Amino acid sequence: MAQLDQFTFFRGRVAEAAILKALGIGRGDEVAIQAFTCVAVPEGVIAAGAQPVYVDIAANRLTMDPADLERKLTPATRAIVVQHSFGLPTDMAGIARVAAARGLPIIEDCAHAVGSTVGGRDVGSLGVAAFYSFEASKPVFVGIGGSAQVNDAALAERVRRDYGAYGQPPLATQAQVLVMYAAHRIAYRPATFWQVRALFRRVSGLGLIPGSYNKVETDLAPAEDFRRSLGNLQRRLLPGAIARLASDIPHRRWVAAQYRTRLTAPGLEHLAHDADADPVYGRYPMLANNKDDILRRAPEFRVEVASWYATAVHPLEGPALAAVGYVEGSCPRAEAVTSRIISLPTSALVTEPLIERTVRLLGAP
Ligand SMILES: *Cc1c(COP(=O)(O)O)cnc(C)c1O
Repeated sequence: MAQLDQFTFFRGRVAEAAILKALGIGRGDEVAIQAFTCVAVPEGVIAAGAQPVYVDIAANRLTMDPADLERKLTPATRAIVVQHSFGLPTDMAGIARVAAARGLPIIEDCAHAVGSTVGGRDVGSLGVAAFYSFEASKPVFVGIGGSAQVNDAALAERVRRDYGAYGQPPLATQAQVLVMYAAHRIAYRPATFWQVRALFRRVSGLGLIPGSYNKVETDLAPAEDFRRSLGNLQRRLLPGAIARLASDIPHRRWVAAQYRTRLTAPGLEHLAHDADADPVYGRYPMLANNKDDILRRAPEFRVEVASWYATAVHPLEGPALAAVGYVEGSCPRAEAVTSRIISLPTSALVTEPLIERTVRLLGAP
C-alpha cells in the first residue's frame, strides 16, 4: 500500500516543493513535468525556486512520453516529476531508462492514483519520492491537504530536518477548510455536482472558502502556503480517509469495469494502458468527439462529467501559460487531447442508477 501519511503538508504542491528542496533543487535548475496537468504541479516547482520544463504526453496516453522527455532534457535538468493521470500509471520503465542515463531522480505525482500498480508494485514506491493531494475529488479527502512519501532514507532525513520549520495554517483557515469539508461530505453527490459546484463557486467568490486555483491569472499561491504543514483539524480526518480506501478501491475497480464495458458508443474512446500497469482510476477518463455537447447536456442527465484538463496547464490560458513557463505549441499531443478529454466519477457515491444515466448521456452503441 502507498504510504499516505509520512510527511503531511498544507497541500500536495507544498509536498512536491518540499521534496524538490530536500533534493537541493532551486534557482537555475529545471524540473521536467508533463503538459496536460494542473497549475499545482508547476507551482510546486516554481515555489522551490526552479523552472518547470514541459514534456508532451505519449501517443494514446495521458502520461509522460519518454522520447519527448529525452528531447527536453538540458544540462540544467535536475529531476523528473511523472504524473499518473486519473490513476493511469506512467510508462515507468521508459522514464527510468532516460532518467538513469543522466542519474536524475524521479518523483511521482500520485494525486489521482492511490492503489494503482506497475508490475505488481504500488505507484508512489517507484521513484525517490511521491506526493499526494487530499482535496475534494482526490481519492483521499480531508478538505485541503497533501503529503510526501519519501522512499530514499537519506532524502527522508533531509525532508524530516526541513519539516521542523513548517508551521500550522492559521486556525481560521483550518476551521474554514473543515466547514468546506463538512459541507462537501453532506451536500456532494455525483447527481448534485453541478448545483453544489455553482454554490461553492458563489461562496468562494465571497472569500469565505479558499479556492483551489487562487488567482492564478495574476499570482501564484502565496509563498507562506509553502511553509505550512497539514492543519491539525484536517490531520484528524486522515486516518479515517485512509481506512476508507480498503472499500473504495474495489468499488472504483467495479465502476471502471462498468464504464469500460457499457460505454461503447461511436465517437467515444477508452484509454489504453501498458500491459504491466493495473490502474485504480481516481476518475475514469475517456476521449469524446463531442465533448462540448456532452458537457452541455450533463446537468440535465444529473451526471457528473469533468472537462479537465481543458488546457495544457489547467486552467491557465494565453499569457498565464507563459507565466508558468509553458510555450504554446511545445506539447502538441497534450494540447490536442484537451478538446476531447472527459472524465467520470468512480468514487463510493457512484451507484448503478448513476451509471445508467451516464450510459444514456454518452449514448449506447
Ligand atoms: C490536485 C493535484 C495536485 C496537488 O493539488 P493541491 O491542491 O496542491 O493539493 C497535484 N497534481 C495533480 C495532478 C493534481 O490533480
